[in-house]
Amino acid sequence: MLVCKTISEIRESVNIRKKDGKSIGFVPTMGALHKGHLTLVEESIANSDVTVVSIFVNPIQFNNQEDFDKYPDTLEEDLDALKDNNVDIVFLPEVSEMYVKAQGQVTINFGMLEEVLEGEFRPGHFSGVGVVVSKLFNVVNPDIAFFGQKDLQQLAVIKTMVAVLNFNVQIIGVPTVREVNGLAMSSRNMRLTTEQRVDAGLIFDQLSILKAEVLEGTDFDIARNKSSDVFAKKGFDVEYLELVDSLSLESVKSITNKEVAICIAAHFGGVRLIDNLVFSPIKK
Ligand code: AMP
Repeated sequence: MLVCKTISEIRESVNIRKKDGKSIGFVPTMGALHKGHLTLVEESIANSDVTVVSIFVNPIQFNNQEDFDKYPDTLEEDLDALKDNNVDIVFLPEVSEMYVKAQGQVTINFGMLEEVLEGEFRPGHFSGVGVVVSKLFNVVNPDIAFFGQKDLQQLAVIKTMVAVLNFNVQIIGVPTVREVNGLAMSSRNMRLTTEQRVDAGLIFDQLSILKAEVLEGTDFDIARNKSSDVFAKKGFDVEYLELVDSLSLESVKSITNKEVAICIAAHFGGVRLIDNLVFSPIKK
């Protein structure tokens, strides 16, 4: 496994492989890898000749300095896991390699897509994601890139950006990988105690109950009120809990004839957790 730290190194390594006619699969990450990330890697290996994984904690997508400072760093274990999972190239740049101060700053406005859900609570987050993913695409030049449905809004933002700005890369969304109790795997789960991780299974339980109620035709506001009470009683501080169209992310009141998603962000045990369930109406 080749580890590249500079843009020129990774460009050269990818170019050599492209000249040999190899397709490039790309998995961008911020490290602290878990089975969710490794599932994206598996998908890339199954669908391309060469798999590149980047590990870069992108400062400009954090609107909370403490969250950035506390972001887990398990680099040695990450590199071992990527090697064991047959990754070909790891891109591991320093912040100074990715952001040259003298270059000035570019922001991206995603309109409505960045105003709802996460956007409301994390101003500037999706601009930061859009900028870093654009840079990584320009540097790695992949044919196909893999993103988790766990970050549904991020996936929507990236699909929109790629379509609108004509990036020559195919974007694949990969279903969320969960712990046995349903908790969506996340690097942030490392900051929960064992007991809190068990209790955090409540998020998936409630999403599943809400899904069943929505499919039965219950108005989402009514279903959400019940759920909010349960969360409050168990010490969860819910930031948002919404039923949305899975593509436009516009809020809906009940099941439509299109695919929808129930999305949540909640603070629990000092950690901000996000999750979602995507589903379609049952065809009769
Ligand atoms: P991160 O390192 O958190 O930026 O995540 C890197 C990629 O892994 C993103 O595309 C995430 O959506 C994806 N990812 C994170 N957690 C999961 C999970 N539990 N299941 C599937 N994909 C995930």
